[in-house]
Amino acid sequence: MATASSRPLQPVSTAARLWTPRRVLITRSARGFVHGRAIAERAAALGSEVVELASDRIVLPKEEDPRAAYRTAKSTLAVVVASPSKRRLQPIPPSADWRFDLAEGCHAHCQYCYLAGSLGGPPITRVYANLDEILDGLPAHLGRGAVTSASAERAHEGTTFEASCYADPLGIEHLTGSLRQAVRFFGRWEAPVQLRFTSKFAGVAPLIGLDHGRRVRVRMSVNAPALIRYEGGTSPLGARLDALGQLARDGYRVGLTVAPIQPFADWRQGYADLFAQAARALDEVPDLDLTVELITHRFTPGSKSVLQGWYPGSDLDLDEAARSRKLTKFGSVKYVYPADTMRAMRAALTALVSNNLPTARILYWT
Ligand code: SF4
Repeated sequence: MATASSRPLQPVSTAARLWTPRRVLITRSARGFVHGRAIAERAAALGSEVVELASDRIVLPKEEDPRAAYRTAKSTLAVVVASPSKRRLQPIPPSADWRFDLAEGCHAHCQYCYLAGSLGGPPITRVYANLDEILDGLPAHLGRGAVTSASAERAHEGTTFEASCYADPLGIEHLTGSLRQAVRFFGRWEAPVQLRFTSKFAGVAPLIGLDHGRRVRVRMSVNAPALIRYEGGTSPLGARLDALGQLARDGYRVGLTVAPIQPFADWRQGYADLFAQAARALDEVPDLDLTVELITHRFTPGSKSVLQGWYPGSDLDLDEAARSRKLTKFGSVKYVYPADTMRAMRAALTALVSNNLPTARILYWT
């Protein structure tokens, strides 16, 4: 029988649609944390095979076939301890002053996943057992931000902490419970601070009713309806927008992360449909605080190679000849849309935001 701590953090009807990892690996050190053991127990209650590792090394079964290796990794959850270096906060422009991680990796199958090429090794999802240590490391950064805190338009948000740079923490919340604890932490933190995360998942039930103190901004990562077919294993667009409406009605600050924006055949109509749908979902929310982040598609030689290995049949446009080649500040190459395409998309999407969501603040276009 499931114990109180092992029950999935969602109503059963919703839990049925939530991710159940095929295998959960829990390291020796992670078993030393109540939070780590609770994650493994919840996964076991949902039907995952739980393997207790003798050490802290994650080893996956050897697979000759890359497709099989990809499937094995994507269906594996590892419960591990975040090392001191993983717990060191980093600035994360243009989103937030600081990045901290509750997890790393994602089980979904987006053909334009921004993690491709950023995380090395097989694409497993790692979740951190030492959540209290991670959260206890945040207050030392209060007032020390140099990204949003240094911006005249955004300094009123306080010191901002972004929790979704290397993972989609909401997509695994029914297993981890980490976001709930993080939201409560920020709710109790009587200071000018903000927890931020973005998601392609609609499982917001564990967050509703928490005492968040208006110090949490949840953004839904969305795109034009025609592009959602590239986002395998995520929640449908309508469900994400409905979930955002639920959060906004529960007093959360909310946002739309529109990404990755692409000039596909009927893009003007596609993005018009997206913003009209978002406006319906957020209609008549009292005291709505809504932001919009606009992120165009880009790729690097490294991310292209990883994505083509993961999704060999994809028709996603990764043609260098149709892009402008740019150097990042670290000297690496990235491919972005040409300036005239960027200008046309920026003008059109900015107008759509102001027409459909007149109270929204656009935080940045990139
Ligand atoms: S939901 Fe986000 S992190 Fe997960 S596969 Fe899709 S783009 Fe990557």
